[in-house]
Amino acid sequence: MEQQQTTKNVVGTQRDGANQQAQMKQHALRMLETYFGYTSFRPAQEAPVASLLRNEDVIGIMPTGAGKSICFQIPALCKPGLTIVFSPLISLMKDQVDGLLVQNIPAALINSTLTQAEFNKTMYEVRSGKIKLLYIAPERLGSNFFCNVLRALPIAQVIVDEAHCISEWGHDFRPSYQLIGEWLNSLPKRPIVGAFTATATKYVENDIKKLLGLDNANVYVTGFDRSNLSFSVIRTPKRMDYVVHYVRQHANENGIIYCATRKDVDRVYENLTRAGIKVGHYHGGLSDEVRREMQNAYADDKLQVMVATNAFGMGIDKSNVRYVLHYQMPRNMESYYQEAGRAGRDGAPAECILLYSGQDVQVHKYLIEQSIETPERQEVELRKLQSMIDYCFCSNCLRKYMLNYFGESTVWTTCDNCSSCKGSGDKVNVTKEAKAIFRAIMGTDERYGASMITSIVRGDRTDRIMWAGHDALPVFGLLSNVDEKSIKGLIQQFVASGYLRSSSGKYPVLSLTAGAEEVLAGHKEVEEIRQHVSVPSRTSRSTSTTSRGKASSGAGGLFEHLRQHRKRLAEEAGLRPYLIFPDTVLIDLANLRPTTLGEFGNVKGVGEAKLKKYGLSFLQAITEYKR
Ligand code: ADP
Repeated sequence: MEQQQTTKNVVGTQRDGANQQAQMKQHALRMLETYFGYTSFRPAQEAPVASLLRNEDVIGIMPTGAGKSICFQIPALCKPGLTIVFSPLISLMKDQVDGLLVQNIPAALINSTLTQAEFNKTMYEVRSGKIKLLYIAPERLGSNFFCNVLRALPIAQVIVDEAHCISEWGHDFRPSYQLIGEWLNSLPKRPIVGAFTATATKYVENDIKKLLGLDNANVYVTGFDRSNLSFSVIRTPKRMDYVVHYVRQHANENGIIYCATRKDVDRVYENLTRAGIKVGHYHGGLSDEVRREMQNAYADDKLQVMVATNAFGMGIDKSNVRYVLHYQMPRNMESYYQEAGRAGRDGAPAECILLYSGQDVQVHKYLIEQSIETPERQEVELRKLQSMIDYCFCSNCLRKYMLNYFGESTVWTTCDNCSSCKGSGDKVNVTKEAKAIFRAIMGTDERYGASMITSIVRGDRTDRIMWAGHDALPVFGLLSNVDEKSIKGLIQQFVASGYLRSSSGKYPVLSLTAGAEEVLAGHKEVEEIRQHVSVPSRTSRSTSTTSRGKASSGAGGLFEHLRQHRKRLAEEAGLRPYLIFPDTVLIDLANLRPTTLGEFGNVKGVGEAKLKKYGLSFLQAITEYKR
């Protein structure tokens, strides 16, 4: 009897629990629709949201653009009490808070830019329970006074955004992040903690667990694929021409061009400026003020393109970056994926293009070998560099290569959205050329670099060659019909693909690897992909995101009209344009052309507050365009 009673209770409790969870989910969905205008969570968002709602700690590892913010913002709205969000940069914080306020979500921030009066006002609002989300810079925890102020607040949950900043292994290490763990322990009652990041390495994950006391947290790792991004590698010596044409072709789209050095930034910047493009530049050699101005102008859509070194990075929450071009190959895949990933955060299609030239390899090798790192560390860096080079020469799916590199297995073999899968190149058999080059290297006892070997196979009768008697080699002049640049290009590729080794130092000397010996023995053929480098024709001008097939044909003009309208509204409101509506909403508006507020409100991403604030104005803009 007693036993029966207990079983009944357990079943009853389980049912109550399930009911309660279903109710919480319904409530969360209502909040999502009301405030954000989305009718469902993305699959990757469900578990972290449910976990925070159940009052369980969470570590969420999700790629950029996956929608991390909503994972904690919705629970913040559903729960009684305050959510504190630690965020590393003032600009990021402001962006997030502005984005929430425009949706009528009561949020505020505290950082060093506030005056005493503003601070007091914010704290008053927080204490009176008006504010649901309070964004704080972790540096503030250095002040005892401030920590005491926080102790008195009804904190429901604490969120650590960009949580990789806590780890010295993370690429954006911030010492002040390490204050958070100690502060959590000092609170009278430990709140629920959620840590979110896009950095997936185990070192970083372990540090997050250790330093925030999250050993028992639910860890959710989302796949790192970003299906809206297309990836291409273009091997061309004419990078500048390519860039100028590309940017011209995408005249109304925002892009970032990453260069390896300040000098390259300046060169690309000057060339684009001369071509009449509204372009900004950003690197460590510019003053703080210039950099700030550039960053703001870019975020406000006042500049079309930003040319930058990797100093331009975190703090770019701009969601409508439609392309990221790499003018040079970065030094490893981690940097590449992070930088390229700044494209298409809004989920609309975006392009990531890496322009490869063989020189990049030599420059990176030189920098690694000259660095003050230990030999072991240099070895690791060189291996990472090799993986990056392999990406550039990968003739299979680039997306698959990349995901596998980051430890994710993929069941598919082609993605149809990368330069390998789309087949933007022909495979050309270059075994004959390879053999000639390898023989020239072997015949001269691996004593020379690329210039001498090129001269030999081309049959140049220079004093040096004649004096050394290399004109007597059987391969002398074997490739006389191939131009010098192409031969040097081939040599670089053979180094990159591991057939040849190039010594470090000022005058690199070439030598053969086992791979080259296999080719010479006739066991292996050498292929290279010759790309049709599409320096786009001027007649086929495409002008906007709409050219990517997102907005239907004919909607391109309206999309552009709405983009201009958004820019005007943003200026009036002192907001970033993408905070008014992301590009995805404008694309849907251009396609659907709503005529009533009801239709407008059904567009994905239009919540109640934005409908009220901007609905009529956008409907009017659509009608105007029709006339
Ligand atoms: P992250 O912080 O992971 O880079 P964000 O939080 O900035 O990503 O979200 C990226 C984009 O996805 C934003 O434009 C956001 O509005 C959109 N988004 C987030 N959740 C959803 C959802 N459930 N449905 C549709 N769009 C969403």
